[in-house]
Formats: sequence, structure tokens, C-alpha cells
Amino acid sequence: MEYIESVNPYNGEPLEKYRMFTEGDIKAVLEKADISFKSWKNEAVEYRSGLLKNLAKALLKNKKVYAQLMSKEMGKPLNQGIAEIEKCAWACDFYAKNAVEFLADDLIDTEANESFISYDSMGCILAIMPWNFPFWQVIRFAAPTLTAGNTVILKHASNVPGCGLALQELFTLAGYPEGSFQFILADHKQLESIIGNPIVQGVTLTGSEKAGRAIAAEAGKHLKKSVMELGGNNACIVWEDADLDSYMDTMVMARMQNTGQSCIAAKRFIVLEEIYDEFLMKFRNKVQTLKSGDPLDKETDIGVMAREDLAKTLAQQVKESVDKGAKVLYGNNRRGAYYEPTVLTGVVPGMPAFDEELFGPVAAIVKAKDREEAIALAANSKFGLGSMLFTEDIKSARKIIGDIPDGAFFINEMVKSDPRLPFGGTKASGYGRELSMEGMLEFVNKKTVYIN
Ligand code: NAP
Repeated sequence: MEYIESVNPYNGEPLEKYRMFTEGDIKAVLEKADISFKSWKNEAVEYRSGLLKNLAKALLKNKKVYAQLMSKEMGKPLNQGIAEIEKCAWACDFYAKNAVEFLADDLIDTEANESFISYDSMGCILAIMPWNFPFWQVIRFAAPTLTAGNTVILKHASNVPGCGLALQELFTLAGYPEGSFQFILADHKQLESIIGNPIVQGVTLTGSEKAGRAIAAEAGKHLKKSVMELGGNNACIVWEDADLDSYMDTMVMARMQNTGQSCIAAKRFIVLEEIYDEFLMKFRNKVQTLKSGDPLDKETDIGVMAREDLAKTLAQQVKESVDKGAKVLYGNNRRGAYYEPTVLTGVVPGMPAFDEELFGPVAAIVKAKDREEAIALAANSKFGLGSMLFTEDIKSARKIIGDIPDGAFFINEMVKSDPRLPFGGTKASGYGRELSMEGMLEFVNKKTVYIN
């Protein structure tokens, strides 16, 4: 029998041991999902939406408990964990309010007596999720996907099994029928056979590019629908007229929130030379004020990274960038899984700090000679999750919307997810969308109905 053990990355102490699922366990889960689907899909959307309201209440009732669990399993500062749970409840309420409209038949005028699109459920969808927002990533997928009449099997990241179990309990508490949402502890090999199983109709992954390539290939082999929410290397462009005093907090937050472990974080700050020195001074001053500490402490801004090996990888990326000429303006000390907030200057293409995703609290600052060069540098990435631009010249900013090859473009705001707006990437950041109506309609059969 195989086990995994969760570990507190702040102090290295073991937390809990969990038994991995056997082949027999997984077979039973798949059968349960299939049985559950047959009745769940026939429930009225109003009924399914009602359960979302219960889910939102259950989340809020114990938000501190869930936030503490995240602090312990992956080092998220407590207040950020509480905010994550509140956001989950917001997404549930959003879909509770809008699902009936989103899933309503879409009438289309043709020569037929009646023709329309019917948004039918598909069946069981496998969700493979990461540890960085252990509740949010799951809820933002599961709330719309279940409400559309599908069932869900969740494989969570190996370092947050407690969060996976807590999520399963939450759905049970909210009144979801048995088998509609099931959490499994499975290894990568077992996931391959689950994707190939005829009961499973689709797979969604939020995770790294590497995992995306493996899972998308597996889904493709079986011609199963897939959604890929992968890594990012978002640019934060700062034009010469940016209002630094108004937006510096936002820019620093865009990089450092969740201890820098966010796919949509601002990873490359591309700053025009006219404003470069002032930007550096203000950015560094703000970074200096961030309080590192115990993730369970309410005052902590920067906790620890989710695992020590992740902090070591980050240190190596910084070292290679420095070897190639980048300068450490601030920080760059590591103790175990803790990585001090760090500011790197003089970053150029060809350095890991420019070319790769730095998944931790390290800001890479790049100098650009003019607006055109800044836009070209921003687009010079294999990823395409989002870009942000800070400027007072909104008229010119609007003109470059078409030049941004990403899934999102935010002006005078950090790229952030919002239940009302679609979320997803281009290029190596993946495909498909989550949130909004777009996200709800990813795992549905858009059936054409024609009646004469
Ligand atoms: P990860 O290593 O790719 O893991 C994500 C999930 O995929 C985990 O459940 C993992 O399971 C599983 N997995 C990994 N390789 C697999 C394979 N070959 N076959 C089957 N399953 C596999 O990513 P992470 O380190 O948890 O998360 C960080 C990455 O996620 C970053 O690149 C970040 O940008 C990205 N991310 C993207 C979004 C978005 O919305 N676009 C949001 C958040 C994070 P195990 O844990 O058991 O290995």
C-alpha cells in the first residue's frame, strides 16, 4: 500500500499521512461518477444552482479553518487564504445567479419552425489541479462544470491532500449527491488510465507547461475534450507617463502576492528608460516594507514557498540570470522553503529571468528605450496568459490592444481573475477559458436542435 505525507513547508514538520488509491478504488470512483451523472444531469438547473448557494455559505462559515489548512500545507499567508475562500464564495454566488441564463437554450432564426442550441452536460470530467490556490482553482472549475450537469473527479497536487479532502467534504455539506464530486489520491500513471476510461468525457488541468503537454497529449490520444490553464510570464509594461505613486502598491502586489506563486503574476517589469530610476527606487522601497513570517500569522505578507525544492529551483534561475549579467538590487536570500522578496535589474532576453517563468517572489526588471520596444519585449515570450500596462495615456493604450498576443490585457490594474470575466491563455499558457459564461460552456455539448 502506498502513502503520501503532507509536510508544513514553514517548519518541515510532517502533517498527515494519506493512502493512495488502488486500481480497485479508482474503478469504484469512476462507477460512482457514472451512476451519479445519470440522475444529476436530469436535475433542473435551478436546483443545481441552489446547491451553489449552500456551497458559498459552507465556505464562508469555516473560512479561517480552510485558510489555516492552506497555510500549513503550502505556506500561504493566513489573510490571503481567507481572501481566497471569500473569492470562492463569490464565484459560487455568481454562478448561482447566472447559471439559468447561461445554460438556457439559444434560439437561432432559420427556415425551421424552431432551431436552437441546447447546452447539454457531457458526463464525468477529470480535474487535475495545482497547489498554489488550492481552493480557488478547484472551485472556479467545479462550480460551473457541476452546475452544467457534469460530475467531477478531482486529482489535487500531491502536497495539498488535506485541501482536496476538505473540498470533498464541502460539496457533501452543501448537499451535492454522492458521486457528483469525488477527490482521489492518484499518481500520474493512474491518471493516464482515468483519461482513457470511457466514463470520463473531458479533462481540465491547471498546472505547468510540462504537465500540460503530457495531459493534453493523453487527452488527444483518446479524442477527449481538454482545457489547459498553464504557466505564464506576464509582462508589466510601465510607460514614461505612468502614475507610479498611485499604482506602485498594485505593481508590487502583482508580483509578490501568494509569495510570488501565481500564474498571472507580473513576472517581467518592462520599464521605459525615462522613468526607470524612479521606478526602481519606488519599487524597492515598497518591497522592503513587505513582512516575511509565519504563514499562520495574520500580519505576514510573504510566507514560505510551497516546497523547498521549488525555492531551490528559483535560486538556480536567479543564479543563472546573475551569471549572465543581471544585478540583485534587493533580497535574494533563501532559507529552506523561504525566499526573500527579490528585485533583479538589467534583465534581458536570454536570461532565465526573462525567458522562463519565475514561480516565486522575484521581480525581473527590464529597461526599454521607447513604447514600441516595450511592447515588443512584452510579446517576446512563449507564454501568453496576460499583460498589464501602466500609463495615463489611455487613448494610445487602446490602440495597442490588438498587439497584445495574450489572453488578458489590463490597463492600470494587475491581471486578476474575476468570476464575471473569462480567464485563460494563449501559446504555452494553454487553451480554453474558465470563469464567466465562457467557462461554464467549456464542458457542455453545444447541441444543434432543428425542428420542422
Ligand atoms: P504541476 O507540477 O504541473 O502540477 C499540477 C498538477 O498536475 C498536480 O496535480 C500534479 O500532480 C499534476 N501533474 C504534473 N505532471 C503530471 C503528469 N505528467 N501527468 C499527470 N499529472 C501531472 O504544477 P504546480 O507546480 O502544481 O503549479 C505551478 C504551475 O501551475 C505554474 O506553472 C503555474 O503558472 C501554473 N498555474 C497556472 C494557472 C492558470 O490558470 N493558467 C493557475 C495556477 C497555476 P502531482 O502534484 O502529483 O505531481
